[in-house]
Parts: sequence; structure tokens; C-alpha cells
Amino acid sequence: MQREQTDVLVIGAGPAGTVAGAIVNKAGYKVRVVEKMKFPRFVIGESLLPRCMEALEEAGLLESVLKMGFQRKTGAKFVRNGVVCDYSFSDQFTDGWDHAYQVTRADFDQALADGLEAQGVPIEYETTVTAIQFNEDGSSVTTVTDNAGNEKQIEAKFIIDGSGYGRVIPRLFGLDKPSNLAPRKALFVHIKDVNRQMDDEPDRITVIVHKPDVWVWVIPFATGVTSVGFVGDPAFFEKYTGTPEEQMRAVIADEPYIAERMKDVEFLWEPKILQSWSSTTEKFYGNGFVLTGNVTEFLDPVFSSGVTLATVSSQIAGKLVVRHLKGESVDWDKEYTEVMMQGVNTFRSYVMGWYDTTLHTIFFANDQNPEIKKMICSVLAGYVWDTDNPYVKEHDTALHKLAKTIRLRDSIEYINNGFK
Ligand code: FAD
Repeated sequence: MQREQTDVLVIGAGPAGTVAGAIVNKAGYKVRVVEKMKFPRFVIGESLLPRCMEALEEAGLLESVLKMGFQRKTGAKFVRNGVVCDYSFSDQFTDGWDHAYQVTRADFDQALADGLEAQGVPIEYETTVTAIQFNEDGSSVTTVTDNAGNEKQIEAKFIIDGSGYGRVIPRLFGLDKPSNLAPRKALFVHIKDVNRQMDDEPDRITVIVHKPDVWVWVIPFATGVTSVGFVGDPAFFEKYTGTPEEQMRAVIADEPYIAERMKDVEFLWEPKILQSWSSTTEKFYGNGFVLTGNVTEFLDPVFSSGVTLATVSSQIAGKLVVRHLKGESVDWDKEYTEVMMQGVNTFRSYVMGWYDTTLHTIFFANDQNPEIKKMICSVLAGYVWDTDNPYVKEHDTALHKLAKTIRLRDSIEYINNGFK
């Protein structure tokens, strides 16, 4: 069988794989990427966060993304029963980017992959990893198969697994672990948003509370197309029957905030269904490999954290791999797992706070404290590693304490107003 060699083999050419590949390549090591699909290919995950832009910048991939003319995103808007809570990334606690982009992922991922190839890193498309054998010194031999069924082997000093939902190393080595989040389902489509008005604010994601545990995303693109998706408990969707298009039209008709705007609009493809996506793994690294992006842990789409966690994990891991290859010692637990878990666990508290409605109490409260709003805004912008922010540092308690105070204040006002 044909054998080739590289310093670092990257599995997957999504945001995680391309950022990691670029960072290692920049340090002068030989990198190659194998990607199962032919690009452009569809993936969901269209609303980026400001923190993600820093990772793209460091990887030297920002220019290729900016060239695409994607819709600039300056904030996130939450809506419940017509009450609006708007977060603007220019008004946040942490210093950093004040905007991100809303992207069709096929084009975004293609731009990242093209940017990486322009840096001199080869990407082999339609090439699937089928087996990996690690040696005692951490080097490895990976077997890949192309679409024609041709097999070859790639020897590498180190592997970065950015295979997303493919979960290559966790699956091959039995590292998969169930998530502690309840299973959820999503039904989504791209529409021709012919009724979009300027006051529909194309420059932000709108998240609508449809029911306490069911929410809707509205993500406008620069092309006049908008992505719309319903997410919730799988049981919620059972009453909607028929084809995916019939289900989507019925569920849109039941949500007053978008029913008029999206009535009878053209769907660009048959609505897609995804389910039970939350997952995690026993460990994020091992002798000769590191996992980055969705392979490590994917929580929930409600705060658009996926691509940010993917790119930031690759930004951090890429630099650690370079140090390892230089022969420096790396404390992977402390410098990678603990750092990543800080970010993941902050988002986890917010995801849980969303579904148990703690965050609804905070987002839709009257007279919000502007300083606290800035701190929460930084989390929504992806700055979940800024432990100077009390709403990051004490993510597991701060939201509950705040919601309790708001409920108490509202009860006192209610009593003072004679129960009105
Ligand atoms: P991927 O983008 O999945 O890329 C992995 C690549 O690896 C793929 O191209 C795949 O083909 C390749 N691969 C897989 N197996 C193999 C193999 N055996 N050999 C070679 N290559 C392989 N995130 C956001 O940031 N914003 C959002 O608004 C958002 N919305 C979401 C909505 C829903 C319903 C869901 C489920 C997720 C959402 N996400 C969102 C999350 C987002 O989809 C992911 O977090 C993101 O795509 C992760 O990037 P990645 O590079 O880790 O993986």
C-alpha cells in the first residue's frame, strides 16, 4: 500500500481543522488535511461570534472570509411575546471584536479551506479516515480511502482530529461519552426572505421564545436569503405531521413573530431535521493526538457557540502541538483540557439557564442593570475565557442569583402596586 509522510495530519477541513492546520503550518511544520466530503458541502452553524474572529485572524484566514462579503453581525436579539431584549456587541465588558458575521456555511468553510490551501497546506477531499494505529512514541499510521476505493497510509508525528460530527478518534478508540444535556431536535430551512424589512434588523440573529422550551432562530444573510430553525424537545414536533415542508410551514404559521413575514415564501430546499447532537468524549488529547472543535464537546445551538469553540480550541491546540513538536513540555490537562472546559462550562451554564428559563427572567426583565448587561453580552460574544467577568467566573451561580433578585423585586413591585 502507498505510504506518505507528514509532520501533522489534520482530519476534517471544517472551521476546527482549517484553523489548527493554519497555525501549525505557520510555525514551519509540514501539514496535510484529509476531508471526507467534496466541498462546498452543507453544514449548519451559520451565526458566528466575535471571539471566533480572533482565532481566524491568528490563523491568517480572516482575509479569505472577509472577501466573501458575508452579512455583518453586530448583536443578538431575544424576543418573547413581543418583548425585545437586544444585545449589541459594541456594548460589552470584555475588550474585543464588536462584530462577527452570518455565513452560509458551505461558502464560509470553502473560504477557510481555500485560504489554507493558499498558505501551502494540501487538502485531500473525498478522502476518509478509516483506521489509525498509534506507535509508542505517539507517531501514527493512518489509513485513508478515497471515493474510488483506493487506500493509502499516512505516517504522521501528530494528529489533530477536527472531524466534527464524524468523531473519528473517539469512535475508533471508544472515547465517546454521553452529554449531560437533554436531547433536542431542530427543524430548519433557508427561505427567500422577500418580506424582510430594515426594521427586521438583518445585522443580528433573532432568537424567539416560541414556548418556554422551544425557540426559533432567524439568521439573515447578505444575499436576501434567511435561515430559520425551530429547536426544542423532540416531543414538541410530534404534533406536526406530513412532509418536512408541511411541518415547517405549519410550525412557522404557529409563531406570530414570523408568521406574516414567512407566509408562502419560497423554501430553497426541503427543510432538514437534526436530533440529539450533544456529545462529549472521555479525553481531549492522548499520546500523539488532540481533538478540537465539535469532536471535544458540542452543547446546543442557542448561543451560537459551536464555531467559536471549534476555532478557539484549534487556536489553542495548534500552538500546543507546535510546542510539542519543538520538544517543549506541554501540560495538556492544564493548558488545553482545563482551558477548554472553562469556556465549555460557561456556555453550558447559559444553555441550562436558557432551558430552565432563568435567562428568560433576566433577558426580559424591566430596568436591566447596564453594567450586568455588558457582562452577559461578553459571554454572548464568545468571551467565555475572561475570568475578570463575574458572569464568566461565577457562571454556575451568578445567573441564578440575578434571576432570584429580579423575581423578588418584581414581587415587591406587584405587592406595592396593589397586586396589579
Ligand atoms: P465540522 O464543521 O462538522 O467539520 C468537520 C469536517 O470533518 C467535516 O467537513 C467532515 O466531512 C469531516 N470528516 C468527518 N469524518 C471524517 C473522516 N472519517 N475522515 C475525514 N474527514 C472527516 N454553531 C455556531 O457557531 N453558530 C450557529 O448558529 C450554530 N447553529 C447550529 C444549529 C444546529 C441545529 C446544530 C446542530 C449546530 C449548530 N452549530 C452552530 C454548531 C456547528 O454546526 C458546529 O459547532 C461546527 O460546525 C463545528 O465545526 P467543526 O470544524 O468542529 O466540525
